[in-house]
Amino acid sequence: MNICVIGTGYVGLVTGTVFSDLGNEVICADIDARKVARLNSGDPVIYEPGLEEMLQRNLADKRLHFSTNIEEAVRKSTVVFICVGTPPKSNGETDLSQVESAAHAIARGLDSYKVIVNKSTVPVGTGDFVRRKIMENRRREVDFDVVSNPEFLREGSAINDTLEPDRIIIGAPNNHVAMALLELYAPLERPMLITDVASAEMIKYASNAFLAMKISFINQIADICESAGADVSQVAKGMGYDKRIGISFLQAGLGYGGSCFPKDVLSLIDVAKRLNEDPEIFESIVRVNQNRMNRFMGRIEKRLGTLEGKRIGVLGLAFKPNTDDLREAKAIEAIEWLKERRAEIVAYDPVAMDNAKQILPDITYVNGPYEAAEGADALLIITEWNEFKLLDLSKIAAAMKQPLVFDGRNIYQMERVNKAGIEYISIGRPATMLCD
Ligand code: NAD
Repeated sequence: MNICVIGTGYVGLVTGTVFSDLGNEVICADIDARKVARLNSGDPVIYEPGLEEMLQRNLADKRLHFSTNIEEAVRKSTVVFICVGTPPKSNGETDLSQVESAAHAIARGLDSYKVIVNKSTVPVGTGDFVRRKIMENRRREVDFDVVSNPEFLREGSAINDTLEPDRIIIGAPNNHVAMALLELYAPLERPMLITDVASAEMIKYASNAFLAMKISFINQIADICESAGADVSQVAKGMGYDKRIGISFLQAGLGYGGSCFPKDVLSLIDVAKRLNEDPEIFESIVRVNQNRMNRFMGRIEKRLGTLEGKRIGVLGLAFKPNTDDLREAKAIEAIEWLKERRAEIVAYDPVAMDNAKQILPDITYVNGPYEAAEGADALLIITEWNEFKLLDLSKIAAAMKQPLVFDGRNIYQMERVNKAGIEYISIGRPATMLCD
C-alpha cells in the first residue's frame, strides 16, 4: 500500500517506519525541515530502542521517505495517517491547530479517493471536524473517508508495541473503509475491533484515564501506608494477584507524567464539561497526581532542613525509562523546586541529558550515577532506569557526604539499602533510619 504519515514525532515516525518495514511504500511528511533532513540521513532524532536500525534499513531499501511536501505525499498515497501533536491549552482543552493544518494540507493534496486515518489523540467529535475541514478546503469534488485509529504505543517500547499491540481499534464510518484498514493491519495478526468513529475516539481517552486512575489510586493507598506503617509494594502485589485488578500500573511513586496521561485526562474533563457531564472522578485523578511532588519534596525538606547550598544528586530526568522525552517529566518539577530553594543540583540520565540541557541549562550534569552521588547530601531517584536498580549501594553510600537516598520509584528492596548502611526514604514504605 502507498501510505503517507503526517507528523514525524514519536508516533508518526514509529508508525511510518514499521509500516515500511512491513513492505509498504511510506512517505513521512513534516513541517519541520531540519527534522526531515536528519531523518533522511538516517538519524532517528529521538531515542527509541530499535528505531535507528529499522529506519536506516528501510531508507536503504527505498521504501521509506521523508519530505516537507505534505500535499505531494498525500497525492502519492491511498491511506493518509494524521500523527501530529495535540497539546493541551492552558484550560485543559485540546489544541487542535496541528490537526486542522494537517487537514488543510490533505484537502489541498486530495486528487483521488483517500482514506484519512486519525492516529493523533483527539477529543470525541474530531473525526467530524477533520471531515468538515477537508470538505471546506478541497480543490476538487473528490470523495474520502475519515477513520479514527487511536494509538496505544508506549515510548521506550514503541516499536514492539506497534508490531504487537494488545488491540487495534478501527473507528470507521462504513464497512468498505474498515476493510481497507483491516487489510493494512492484517500482517500483524492482532485482535482488531471495528467501531464507529466517536467510540474509537472515546476508547483512547477512557483507556488513558483508567490507567492514570490506577496510578493515582495506588498513590493514595501509598500515602495511607506511609502513615500506617504498611508497605505499599506488598499491598500492590497482594491486589495484583486478583485477576480482576492486575498488577500493571500499580507502582506507587511520584505520579504520572509524560506527553499523554496529563493532557489526556485534562482533555476528558474538558469534554465532559462541554457535554454537561460530571468529570468528578477525573478531576480527583488530576488532583492526587498534582500533590505527589509536593509531598515527596516536603519529606526531603523535613529531613534536611534548609536546602540552600546542599548538594543534591538527581538520578533520572526522562519522564520514564527508555526514552529521552522530558514532556511533563517529574524531574523538571523536582529540579525547579530544588532550584527555588537554592540547592546545588547534580544530575544524571542515561539518554535524556541533551534534551534536559535545553530546558534546565543551569544545573550540573555528570556522566554516571556514582558521580552524581559524589559529596551529595542526598540522592534522589526520579526515573526508574534499569541501570539504577543494580548499583553498588555501598559504593554510593561511600561516595556521598551522608548516605541518604530518597527513592521516588521504590526501586530498591529494604534489605539491600539497609545492608549498604543507607538511610532510605521511599514511597508508601517504612523509612529506614541509620542506627547510631
Ligand atoms: P510529537 O510532538 O512528538 O510530534 C508531532 C510532529 O508533528 C512534530 O514532528 C511536528 O513537527 C509535526 N507537525 C505539527 N504540525 C504539523 C503539520 N501541520 N503537518 C505536518 N507535521 C506537523 O507528538 P507525538 O508524541 O508523536 O504524538 C502525536 C499524537 O499521538 C498526539 O496526539 C499524542 O497524544 C498521540 N500519542 C502519543 C503517544 C506517545 O507516546 N508519544 C502515544 C499514543 C498517542
